[in-house]
Amino acid sequence: PEERSLNFIEQLVEEDIAGGKNGGRVHTRFPPEPNGYLHIGHAKSICLNFGLADKYGGQTNLRFDDTNPVTEDVEYVDSIKADVRWLGFEWENEFYASDYFDQLYEFAEKLIQAGLAYVDDSTAEQIAAQKGTPTEPGKNSPFRDRSVEENLDLFRRMKAGEFPDGAKVLRAKVDMASPNMHLRDPLMYRIKHAHHHRTGDKWCIYPMYDFAHGQSDAIEHITHSLCTLEFVVHRPLYDWFIEKLAIFPSQQIEFARLNLTYTVMSKRKLLQLVNEGHVTGWDDPRMPTISGLRRRGYTPSAIREFCDRIGIARRENLIDVGLLEFCIREELNKTAPRVMAVLDEKPLKVVLTNYPEDKNEILKIENNPEDPAAGEREVPFSREVWIEREDFMENPPKKFFRLFPGGMVRLKGAYIIKCDEVVKDDAGEVTELRCTYIPESRSGSDTSGINVKGTIHWVSVPHAVEAEVRLYDRLLTVEDPSAEDGDFKEFINPNSLQVVRGLVEPSLKNIKTDAQEGRIQFMRKGYFCLDADSTADKLVFNRTVTLKDSWAK
Ligand code: ATP
Ligand code: MG
Ligand code: MG
Repeated sequence: PEERSLNFIEQLVEEDIAGGKNGGRVHTRFPPEPNGYLHIGHAKSICLNFGLADKYGGQTNLRFDDTNPVTEDVEYVDSIKADVRWLGFEWENEFYASDYFDQLYEFAEKLIQAGLAYVDDSTAEQIAAQKGTPTEPGKNSPFRDRSVEENLDLFRRMKAGEFPDGAKVLRAKVDMASPNMHLRDPLMYRIKHAHHHRTGDKWCIYPMYDFAHGQSDAIEHITHSLCTLEFVVHRPLYDWFIEKLAIFPSQQIEFARLNLTYTVMSKRKLLQLVNEGHVTGWDDPRMPTISGLRRRGYTPSAIREFCDRIGIARRENLIDVGLLEFCIREELNKTAPRVMAVLDEKPLKVVLTNYPEDKNEILKIENNPEDPAAGEREVPFSREVWIEREDFMENPPKKFFRLFPGGMVRLKGAYIIKCDEVVKDDAGEVTELRCTYIPESRSGSDTSGINVKGTIHWVSVPHAVEAEVRLYDRLLTVEDPSAEDGDFKEFINPNSLQVVRGLVEPSLKNIKTDAQEGRIQFMRKGYFCLDADSTADKLVFNRTVTLKDSWAK
């Protein structure tokens, strides 16, 4: 791969290494909250975190940020691990923020003892009112000056379960006049009598993100804690806790999150799509999830290539989803075997009147013109073949190089044929074309001297295998859903899935072993992959991406 210049995080890391910071050690973490499946935005973060460690001889932890018992689930934990591995990365340690609950609790007591945290009985509304607005200072809580002893006693009783949800919180005593709202005595702990998927009913108080994340980083001696730009305003608090607790000084560094056109990425919204049945599940091929992309036919390498191409920036931007499609198309162009499939509810039958009825010819057709090593496959040919209805026109415009009455075309890998007669039913619809083939025009040994401009794909009628073919389009109709007013579900594309009947060549019956994990090009139609719904009796294909490149104009 060609050399690209260092991104700003790599520059920073190289300066740290050169300066001997942390003994030149690089230790990153990928910290998903197990409240949904990973999406392409997470892939950016995964490639960044694991990529940095790989590049600089460091390590990466997988840390589940599981401090919110209500929305989290082991189903998500398992899917996250599978997705990270599928993308091609292996973590050094598998950790859970919940493993640190005891340690975090001790940190909290330490801050209380230092007079830097207090128990507040104010309601959520009262606390919000105390915080004021960014342009004017906030007001101290009436509970701010409780004694250390009283705070310790109350916090221990919070932990012991003496109070109901919401009755009290623990707050850091920072600065109610700070221009940074996150420093106006932020919450550290809240009471939540909820069952946690790992710690069970041991805890009824749970740490807030800001009190769990940086401390977890410090416990793991993470050197570079990479997160998205929303957390810039949290950084002073991240540093404040580390300083006051005198723990390992992990450094938070922010980068621009991935936003994609025609795509929503927040897990809350993706969950709505799943729960409300707009898609068939987290792995629906229209979803921007890793599992959806995988089912759609994306490869790990194409996703990594995409993440590499978009780079790492310090400013929010919106990436054209066409770039993602470009990356998989480029790869499949090199690797996907070509096969023929007629995707048409009403394909047209072509009868070759001068081809012997009992003749069964096996043609050898190259698998991939981009890759001679891919070899050839055998494709049966016979007197009757299916073609796409759109490859015939009774009254063609100029420059129509496919089939029309009296016209000639090449059947891919086979012969040149000439259309002699058009057969119609009573309603006037074309039901069959009667053609002659030119015996000397066989591909590879053509001595006919005839030149035709068009080549079309076909499938032998007696050998054709039926398949269900799922054609996907964007799930949303607007380029930047986050810029629109109202509910994003108003912009769901009603035609994002179209199911068509396919007649495919018989080599596809053994596709699992034949093609790379079921990824193929249907010639002239696009790149497809075998779907998980496929059975021996019924092949099901997903269109991964169309052939035409709409991105790199
Ligand atoms: P969501 O908004 O989808 O719920 P999140 O940030 O709450 O995202 P987490 O599970 O906490 O989801 O994310 C794990 C890591 O992945 C975090 O470090 C986060 O910064 C990163 N991440 C999440 N979304 C993106 C994105 N769109 N682009 C880049 N990184 C992302
Ligand atoms: Mg998060
Ligand atoms: Mg979230």
